[in-house]
Amino acid sequence: MNSVDTTTQVAISPARLNWVDGVPESRDFGDVYFSRDNGLEETRYVFLGHNHLDERFRAIEQGGHFVIAESGFGTGLNFLATWQCWRNAAPPTGAVLHFVSVEKFPLTPEDLHRAHQLWPELAELAGQLQAAYPELTAGVHRIVLDGGRVRLTLFFGDALDGWKDLEFTADAWFLDGFAPSLNPELWVDDVVDAVSQHSRPGTTIATFTAVGRIRRALIASGFEMAKVPGYGRKREMLTGTYEPREPHRPDKDLTDTGPAGIQPSRSAVIVGAGMAGSLLARNLAERGLRVTVVDSGTAPGHGASGNQQGALYVKLGVDYSPQTQLALSALLYAQRFYPSREGSAWFPTGVLQIAYSDAEQRRQSKFLASNNYPPSIVCPVTPNEASDLAGIPIKQSGLWFAQSGWLKPPVLCNQMLEHPGITTRFGFDVADKFHMNGRWRITSRQGETVDADTLVLCAGHRVTELLPEGQYRFKPIRGQVTLLDQTAIQPPACVICGNRYLNPADNDLCLTGASFDLRDSNPELTTASHQENLEELARMLPGIFTKTGVATESLGGRVGFRCTTHDYQPVVGPLDIEDAEDTNEATKAYLLTGFGSKGLTYGPLLAEYLADVISGQPRALPISMSQRLRAERCRNQS
Ligand code: SAM
Repeated sequence: MNSVDTTTQVAISPARLNWVDGVPESRDFGDVYFSRDNGLEETRYVFLGHNHLDERFRAIEQGGHFVIAESGFGTGLNFLATWQCWRNAAPPTGAVLHFVSVEKFPLTPEDLHRAHQLWPELAELAGQLQAAYPELTAGVHRIVLDGGRVRLTLFFGDALDGWKDLEFTADAWFLDGFAPSLNPELWVDDVVDAVSQHSRPGTTIATFTAVGRIRRALIASGFEMAKVPGYGRKREMLTGTYEPREPHRPDKDLTDTGPAGIQPSRSAVIVGAGMAGSLLARNLAERGLRVTVVDSGTAPGHGASGNQQGALYVKLGVDYSPQTQLALSALLYAQRFYPSREGSAWFPTGVLQIAYSDAEQRRQSKFLASNNYPPSIVCPVTPNEASDLAGIPIKQSGLWFAQSGWLKPPVLCNQMLEHPGITTRFGFDVADKFHMNGRWRITSRQGETVDADTLVLCAGHRVTELLPEGQYRFKPIRGQVTLLDQTAIQPPACVICGNRYLNPADNDLCLTGASFDLRDSNPELTTASHQENLEELARMLPGIFTKTGVATESLGGRVGFRCTTHDYQPVVGPLDIEDAEDTNEATKAYLLTGFGSKGLTYGPLLAEYLADVISGQPRALPISMSQRLRAERCRNQS
C-alpha cells in the first residue's frame, strides 16, 4: 500500500538542471533558460529593448518608481540586466525599481551562482543577489537591494497563484516561461487574464515567443500586439501595449494602490519612536518622504522597545497556518534585514528553542514530522548538540534557528532615526489630531504642531489614547525583564527560549524574562516579578545558576507593556477615523502596532509593507496575509 505523505511542503522543490556546454537547461521542461548564443544580449533585445526601459528609466523623477513583472525568474538574468540598466539610467537616490517575479522551481543557490559566472559584467549585482537570495520556501519573499533602490518581490510557487495573491500594477511585463509547447501551464488564458488585471493603460509587454494562440489571448485581454523580428536564430517575437477597448476595470484586490485620484504622500507624521515607528520612518525616508516622528518619551525606544536586549524569536506552529506563514515570512525578512544594517547592534548567535516540558517536547516532535522546513531555517538538536551550541549544559532537545539572534532595540531605533529625511520631536505628548484640506495636523499638549499628508500611529499599548474612545480593543500586557550578572549564572553563547528566554551576556549582564502580567499596570520593577523570572529560568535551565539564593531586591531590570490584540496577531493597514473632518477624501491614516512580544520579528517586514502601501508601490505581503492584519478586526462590535 502506498503511504500518503502528509508533510506540509514548506520547502519548495528546486529546479533540476543539466549543464550543457556551461549553459543551464531544465531537465523537467527540456528547454534552455536563455539563448545559447548570448543570453544577456537576448535579454537586452527582447525584454529591455521592447519595453523601452532605458528611455523610460531616464524619465523617472526623484521619488518615482517603476514596476516590472516577470513570469519565470529562473537564473535572474533578466532581473540583473534590468537592475544594471536602472543603475545607469534612473536617478541615483529616492527612486525605486520594483521587480515582481514568480518562479515555481527556483534554482538552488549553487546553481544560481554557477549560472551567474557566465556574465562577468554583472558580477557585482549578481553577488548582491546571491547574498540575499531567499530560502527556497513557498510564498512571497521581499528582497531589498542596492540600499533600497531596487526591490525584488519573488513569489515561489505557481504563476497563477502568485498573480492572484500579489498586489501591484505593472508598468512593463516580461513573459519568459519556457516555450509554450513545453510549458503550457504558464501560458493558459487564466494567466494571460491575470497579467491584464495587473496592467494599466500604457503598460508594455514583451515575450520571446510568437505563438499565435498567445498573441490572440493577449489581444483578447486588452493588449495591442505586434510581431517583430526575434533575437538571433528566432524569427519572430511579440511586443505590445495594454490598450483595453472597454474601460479598464482592474480587480480592486490585485491593484489596490489607494483611492483613484489621490496623490501619493510626500510627507508623514509617525506617532511613536519604538521599533515600529523607527523602522517605518527610515523606510519612508529612504523612499523620499519627509518624515516627522513624535514621541512623548525623551529618547527612541522609550516604551516596550526599550529593553537592552531583545531576541529575534518566533514560534512556528505545528500546522502551517496563516499565523505561522506570517511568522516565517517575518523571521526570514528580519534575518536578512538586520545584518544588512551596519550599526544595528545585531548579534547572530542563533536561537535555541528548548523542549522545556513534555508537552513542548511532543509539540516539537509533531512540528518536525508535519513540515519540511529547510534545516538552514530550523533543525532539531539533541541535548548534547544543544549544550555545544549554547556552551552550557542543557538537558533537553530542541529546535535550532541558526540564522537568528538578538539585538539591542534602542540602538536600532536610534540608528533608524538618523537620516536627513527624518525629524524627531521628543517630549511631544499628542493632544489632538485632525484632518483638513487633505492634510493631517497633530498638536501636542504643549501647543506644538506637526503637519503631514499621512498619519501613522505606532504608539504601542498607548495607541488607544489616540483612537476614538471605545472603538478599538488592544490589550496591554505587562512584562518585566531581569538582569543577571555572571556571578549568578553561566551566560549562554546563544539565545535560549522556552517558557522564558535568556540572552547571551552584554556588558556582563544577561537578560531573562519577560513576565506576562495580565491586568497589571504597575510600571515599577517588583521583586515578585523578578522572583517569578528566576523560578521559571531555573525550571527551564536547572543547571544555569552558579550560586543559590540570588537576592531579588537588588536585581536590575525593566518594565514594558506589550501591545497585544485578541488574536495575538499584529495590526497593519489603513485606519478608518470616523471623526476626521474630511469625509470625502482618503484620510491616509494608518496603524502599525499589536506586535505583542514579537516586535523585533514583525517590525522590519510590516514596516516594509506599510511603506509600500503609503507610497503606492507593490506590496511585500500577499493579499491573503495582509487582509488578516487589518485594523478593522480590532474594532469593538457595537
Ligand atoms: N527569466 C529567467 C532568467 O532570467 O533566467 C528565465 C526563465 S526560464 C525561460 C522559465 C522559467 O519559468 C523557469 O525558471 C521555470 O521554472 C519557470 N516556470 C515554469 N512553469 C512555471 C509556473 N507554472 N509557474 C511559475 N514559474 C514557472
